Amino acid sequence: MSESPKSYKAPTGMPDILPEDMPAWLRLENAVRRLFPLYGYREIRTPLCEETQLFSRSVGEATDIVEKQMYTFSGGENEKSLTLRPEMTASVVRALIEHQLFKQKTMQKFFYIGPMFRKERPQKGRFRQFYQLGIEAFGSQDPLIDAETVMLFQHLLMDLGLSRFGIRLNSIGCMTCRGSYRDTLKQAMQSRLKTFCPDCKRRYERNPFRVLDCKVETCVQARVDLPRITDHLCAACRDHFDSVRKALDQNSVPYQVDPFLVRGLDYYTRTVYEVTSDLLGSQDSLGGGGRYDALVRELDGPDMGAVGFAAGMERLIMVMQQQEGSSVQSGSASDFYIVTIGAEQRPEAFRMLAELRRAGLSGDLDYEGRSVKAQMREGTRSGARFAVILGSDEVSRKVVKVKNMIDGVEVEVARDKMVETIKERR
Ligand code: AMP
Repeated sequence: MSESPKSYKAPTGMPDILPEDMPAWLRLENAVRRLFPLYGYREIRTPLCEETQLFSRSVGEATDIVEKQMYTFSGGENEKSLTLRPEMTASVVRALIEHQLFKQKTMQKFFYIGPMFRKERPQKGRFRQFYQLGIEAFGSQDPLIDAETVMLFQHLLMDLGLSRFGIRLNSIGCMTCRGSYRDTLKQAMQSRLKTFCPDCKRRYERNPFRVLDCKVETCVQARVDLPRITDHLCAACRDHFDSVRKALDQNSVPYQVDPFLVRGLDYYTRTVYEVTSDLLGSQDSLGGGGRYDALVRELDGPDMGAVGFAAGMERLIMVMQQQEGSSVQSGSASDFYIVTIGAEQRPEAFRMLAELRRAGLSGDLDYEGRSVKAQMREGTRSGARFAVILGSDEVSRKVVKVKNMIDGVEVEVARDKMVETIKERR
């Protein structure tokens, strides 16, 4: 039985990025590619999926991502389970270890741009396929590197002309101070358990830190006077946090300490931070990051300090567009549109098209057999700066007409001066 015709749609929460959106995306990507190498970061690309275990071991079994958001399928070596990457840190660490990149020199700095996948409930600013840009720096415990990553995040936002953002900073200690804080915290939480949301009741058992940054109002109320991690840091973690703050202060980076900021991924140690914007609505996080000194060893690599951040590109673009109105969208205009008076000039017009493009000029001609008037209209619609007009008379005299589409002024130029004329006047 044949199926009834159906209209296909992109999968839920996995939006298309259409050509008119691309100028903003490219502006963001170009800013990353220009800026991040200034700080010593080099681009890395890893596969879209990894062995499932890599994520459950690094992101953490008791996190929302691993518990319910992963796209998992069989098909690895010996039908091993694979998962579409929900974030990039685990993949970068895997690549660092697999290729022994840590042996090349002490510090290794990477940046990435690419799609991530999480089976979330889609809403404004929250998708199932979304893009992140981010960095990872390996090989140092120096608090200056923590500060450097925050400053690079800030530099990117400034470079994009964004000013409406805030930075929240915290330290969640090392495995040692966190262990004893966890007990203190659970004890203090016990009497308020009944006011927690259903998720937090579950988190209380498996991952009590996550209760601290729950957004549900009753949980926000319940934690007001809970013990704070910043009062339970060991001496080394306290020194580290003080040094990060000092470095940020000395470089006039504005931030707020938020003792309840914990971030959703298990691998963080010591410094954590989040960058938010009030232009985003309820999903207000532009990105976040922190230190994860135990992760490389946890994944069977050497003992090495590590710190990084990830930022959501759709959200950055939303803020860019809100701050700048439609100006980010400009840039779709081309240099020329070739108009032929009759079909006989088409071979010559096609040669001119190739010549103009080889000279680095952008434009097109009509492929649909339109009238001269319709070709002129198409030239205007395409945003071309010049119409290059060619009739049989022009072909025989080896000239073309070049019409400025903005002021309407038309000049006749020799065929071999066409490229030069357009380049000079555009
Ligand atoms: P995370 O990897 O969870 O620390 O997220 C880092 C940043 O990625 C967030 O601050 C968001 O900007 C972005 N992000 C995370 N999840 C999503 C999602 N489902 N849809 C869109 N952006 C996301």
